[in-house]
Amino acid sequence: MEILDYDVVIIGSGIAGLRALLEFLMNEGGRAALVNKAQLMRAHSVAATGGTAAVLRPEEGDSFELHAWDSIRNGEFLNDQDAVFKLVEEIPREIYFYDHLGLPWSRRDDGKIAQRILSPHSFPRCAYAGGWTGFHMVQTLYDSLQKFTTWDSFDEFMALDVIADEEIKGVILWDIREGTLYLLRTKGVIIATGGLGRLFKFTTYSFQATGDGFAMALRAGLPLKDLEFIQNNETSLVPSGVLVGSAARRYGGRLINSTGERFMERYAPGTLEMSPKDVVARAIMKEIQEGRGFKGPRGLDYVLLDVTHLPEDIKKGVLGSIRETVLRLTGLDIVEFPIPVRPAAHFSMGGIKTDLNGKTEIEGLWAAGEVACLSVHGANRALANSTAECTVWGRITGLEAAKRARKVKAFPDVRQSKVKDTETFIQSLFNGSGKNSIYEIKKELNNAMEKNLRVFRNEDGMKKALNTVESLRDGLKSVVIKDRSPYYNLELVTYFEVRNMLDLAPAIIKSAIFRKESRGPHFRTDFPLRDNKNWLKHTLVRKKGDEFEVETEPVRLTFFKPMENQNQNE
Ligand SMILES: Cc1cc2nc3c(=O)[nH]c(=O)nc-3n(C[C@H](O)[C@H](O)[C@H](O)COP(=O)(O)OP(=O)(O)OC[C@H]3O[C@@H](n4cnc5c(N)ncnc54)[C@H](O)[C@@H]3O)c2cc1C
Repeated sequence: MEILDYDVVIIGSGIAGLRALLEFLMNEGGRAALVNKAQLMRAHSVAATGGTAAVLRPEEGDSFELHAWDSIRNGEFLNDQDAVFKLVEEIPREIYFYDHLGLPWSRRDDGKIAQRILSPHSFPRCAYAGGWTGFHMVQTLYDSLQKFTTWDSFDEFMALDVIADEEIKGVILWDIREGTLYLLRTKGVIIATGGLGRLFKFTTYSFQATGDGFAMALRAGLPLKDLEFIQNNETSLVPSGVLVGSAARRYGGRLINSTGERFMERYAPGTLEMSPKDVVARAIMKEIQEGRGFKGPRGLDYVLLDVTHLPEDIKKGVLGSIRETVLRLTGLDIVEFPIPVRPAAHFSMGGIKTDLNGKTEIEGLWAAGEVACLSVHGANRALANSTAECTVWGRITGLEAAKRARKVKAFPDVRQSKVKDTETFIQSLFNGSGKNSIYEIKKELNNAMEKNLRVFRNEDGMKKALNTVESLRDGLKSVVIKDRSPYYNLELVTYFEVRNMLDLAPAIIKSAIFRKESRGPHFRTDFPLRDNKNWLKHTLVRKKGDEFEVETEPVRLTFFKPMENQNQNE
């Protein structure tokens, strides 16, 4: 076991983690460790294509109030409004910060940063860099970090747990390449591990998004907030889950079932395929459940998104990148063939509860990016607000960590018993007489979550999922790791990830059972309406021993009053 000291440890190298690191170094916080379980430029953030929302043109009619209103209305009033205002007021400065660092934002003819309109924003306020916004944000941060020498990158190291009492002490890492344990003693930790989509069978997320940061926080005794809200991307490519952008529908694409019907005419005759994402997602799943879908691989039945009738110049021009992706992943050319799609898990609104500075209940421990819940998104994220959140709170947490690192003089004293326990535990996995395969457990978990916690939910289904998860948690005790190699032992990495998912799944399910209403993507067939009177409040879930306890917390309604008691999506 190696023991190393750092002034801060940042777990995750997406937009949130890299922005935190840059701010920490710019503010002379000391020595930093950047940990990520893949390669540095492989974080999920590089997949963000649409843009980053910011008010850059008040003179043309945009305003902080309008950006906040679009976000809060879309979040069905569950957003903490002071956090939303902090986001909208801070993000313009961030856009110009990246501009100065050299990010190639797309430009208007007058040379100003171009912005486009993405639903539900009511103003063209999404800054973008061609189709590669997230990639360029990550690349620009990475390039800027090269100017600093006081940080080490732990690529292909998996953080297993944080060590803390009321104060942070350290992080336990598993070196995936060499198969050894590390203890990093530290004055501060920023968890920036991204989302949790891989709990589900069908998702737009990268394979890294296994909810590790959420699970580490639960095990450290921290509350997770609003976990029941998991956004759908309504049209994702079957079977890969890759997102098919809404441009395909905006330019006239039609959703077709197996009888050849344009079924959105029945569900939403006015807005058709451009209805709110949850309306479209529910319509697609209803068609599939009622037998009007097409048979897909691994139970992933689908409907068709047809653009074949559109003019050639649209299909080959503005839809060119969708054409290329679909061709590469399915062999189908959208010019001639419709696209197989169904809704996929896409974004987690909930996460580790933090204050407005990203601080958790543990001194010296912050969370930033998708893993955090400041409740800027409420029940439903507005597109392009999440890269905004990542960079705003990356900056804030990096700055806070630098301040603390300068103030706290000594490194904490860490009992090494927890690392020794982990070492013994890993040995027991290799030597155990269990028979269960970690891959089978993962498959069953994915199926149970997909079936009962995705587009439609009800108490019976969710309780079934909970029972399955409980028995899988039991089954985890009898897993055997067949691969004995210390080098790149991906079976063991999968074990750690599945253990995290099985700690997180009951927290999600219990929060979802607890909330007896429908709001955003949390649609309950047994409570189909939004209920502001009883449920305009956050859920908080904590792990206590083997139990999960759910409580509530008021929503901070500092500016706008909630609208009527009707689902915004209806
Ligand atoms: C297809 C797609 C398109 C999107 N487009 C947009 C968009 O246009 N605009 C927008 O605002 N949002 C968009 N989003 C959402 C947005 O991309 C994400 O919310 C955001 O990038 C998350 O960034 P992050 O820094 O929090 O985490 P990530 O970028 O997910 O990075 C997480 C990091 O944590 C590391 N990690 C995880 N667990 C561990 C562990 N145990 N140990 C060590 N390291 C670990 C990973 O290796 C990775 O480096 C999109 C999402 C998807 C799926």
